[in-house]
Amino acid sequence: MDFLEPQDEHFGYAGFADFLDGKKPLVRRAEILFDEEIGALRIIAPQQRERRWPFQAIREIPDQAGRDMLVLGCLDEPLARLMVDEADAIRHILRRCPELHRRPPAQGQRRLVGWAAAALASVALIIFGLVPILANQLAGFIPPEGERALGDATYEQIREALSESGFQPLPVCSGAKGREALGQMQAGLTEGVDLPYPLTVTVLDHPMVNAFALPGGRVVFFRGLIEEAGAAEEVAAVLAHEIGHVAARDPTRIALRSAGSVGVLGLVLGDFAGGAVVLFLAERLIEASYSQEAEATADAFAAERLAAAGVRPDALARFFRRLQKKHGDADGIVAHFLSHPRLAERIASAEGTAAPGETRPILGKAEWAALRQICD
Ligand SMILES: [Zn+2]
Repeated sequence: MDFLEPQDEHFGYAGFADFLDGKKPLVRRAEILFDEEIGALRIIAPQQRERRWPFQAIREIPDQAGRDMLVLGCLDEPLARLMVDEADAIRHILRRCPELHRRPPAQGQRRLVGWAAAALASVALIIFGLVPILANQLAGFIPPEGERALGDATYEQIREALSESGFQPLPVCSGAKGREALGQMQAGLTEGVDLPYPLTVTVLDHPMVNAFALPGGRVVFFRGLIEEAGAAEEVAAVLAHEIGHVAARDPTRIALRSAGSVGVLGLVLGDFAGGAVVLFLAERLIEASYSQEAEATADAFAAERLAAAGVRPDALARFFRRLQKKHGDADGIVAHFLSHPRLAERIASAEGTAAPGETRPILGKAEWAALRQICD
């Protein structure tokens, strides 16, 4: 390796780092020089033009690497990445780049759309930068812990992406009585059911009328859905349907399909917090367009569980009729369910099998009131 001895005095420090130009999935070992005179970090990589990243324009890319590695981007060149692992170089960067931790202003839900593009650009970083390091941990199967790790990471990304402030992740609704009520509902619907992993049901403080399942047993409700529901049974019907997706491991399947081999690597690697794949998957999972077959199976599961819990199986149908009337067919969970062309048929069949004589409330009045206030 030909090391360029820094001769000029204004070169404060010189070292090496890995550079990705954001166009080719190729990591190049680059020489880096802190040029005080021009106030920029010079990056000299083989077969690349020299980069000069102004100290002011350098940002840390969070969550992409381990604790002793710094992944940097530059405002002037948003897709390029510099991975710095030399302790001295990291120290110099922390000292010289004043805006390192400044985050771009939040754009609310629109950020979801931007994710995919940004994620694809840095998938290369994961595959060619991090995966080789971890390759000896690869196993020939996807362990439930891997699914769980992916689900957890995706969940955190969703909280960040939908954050109102851009700094604080979307709050988790934690009213004690409301959580208790939700637990009671969950217990009523899953009694005697053998799920591939323990279920974790969470309510996030967001007005979107939506609910979805994530890999590894997470079911997420947004506050908006609970507010729109006319009765606890309607929430229970949605929950039962999402548990159906969990039971069939549909979110993991959609993750695999969406991200292909990259997703497989992430799942197999297990401990996979953060990173581009997760960003990409979060967007897919929140939209959750499953196959007709998967939806029908989740419906059947829900109908059976609702009946076992003494809930009229048409509760879901009632909820969606109301939503449809109020919001039309377009967004959120309505879209998730209405994407199924046989919805009308499903509603009719659910209503046909309703057995009002044998029902019992899934929650008492006080519990249902507590659930509605879980975010207060
Ligand atoms: Zn579904």
